[in-house]
Amino acid sequence: MSPVPNTKACITEPAENIVCILAPNPSPMTFKGTNTYIIDNSELAIIDPGPLDEEHFNNILEVTAGRTVKYIFLTHSHVDHSPLAKQLSVELNTPIYGYGASDTGLSSTMLSLLDSGYHSGSEGIDYEFNPDYLIKNDEKFYLNNKEISAIHTPGHMGNHVCFQYGKVLFSGDHVMGWATSMVSPPYGDLRQFMISCRLLQTKEFDLFLPGHGDIVKNPSERLNFLINHRLGRERQIKETIKNTPLTALEITEIVYTDVENSLIPAATRNVFAHLIDLSERGLVDFLGEISEKTKAILHDK
Ligand SMILES: [Zn+2]
Repeated sequence: MSPVPNTKACITEPAENIVCILAPNPSPMTFKGTNTYIIDNSELAIIDPGPLDEEHFNNILEVTAGRTVKYIFLTHSHVDHSPLAKQLSVELNTPIYGYGASDTGLSSTMLSLLDSGYHSGSEGIDYEFNPDYLIKNDEKFYLNNKEISAIHTPGHMGNHVCFQYGKVLFSGDHVMGWATSMVSPPYGDLRQFMISCRLLQTKEFDLFLPGHGDIVKNPSERLNFLINHRLGRERQIKETIKNTPLTALEITEIVYTDVENSLIPAATRNVFAHLIDLSERGLVDFLGEISEKTKAILHDK
């Protein structure tokens, strides 16, 4: 069946039975804005309601047009994805399905970083997020007898889930075409991110519908690119601390030579994400407690 006709430019149909509503929250972090998807297969599901915004809320209601919405799914709980879920849930009388609160799925290293007072950067965590239903990895849901399969893909956030619908993957912020995903400790975990990328490589998809930006039409190429991009950065970092112990910031100043000053804190978090990953794989030693300010050196074999 074809979705409700509309005239708004922010409402598109990226694939059969799928409507995309672009939220009006463009920024350097969100690109053109958050993509809210509606699967419309007689029965309806909403994926990622988006930020608190009246216009966006009304656009979603226009597409659902008084029909019953069976699920409100969340890929993860950054503030550009989840806050509108509650208002929609009340309005539509639909439960919210997510992997868990914002600290769900974090490794013991990340939890102890949180304990030590190391908090998120500028990415915006929705600390209020509290799904009605907790999704399990590989759990199946059904819309008019067609399967939606949840794939737990931690890395961008510990509670990140992708949703497979036929050969389409709602890839959230795990895989996007316009930018490599931000992986910022303690809520972001590079080790988990790489494992999640490799997990998706074992499955077959025709296209990814990401949380921001356009359709990813070459999913396996994009996954390869993301993995190789991270491995390239990893090689650079390992080279930098081969003989000299350095902090995340000191490494950043050597490795990121072409980055504006305002982006240095985000880049430093990225380097720190790599250092934690390398240390968990036994390839790097922190000379003290794991922190952004602790010097790290390549493990001496
Ligand atoms: Zn996000």
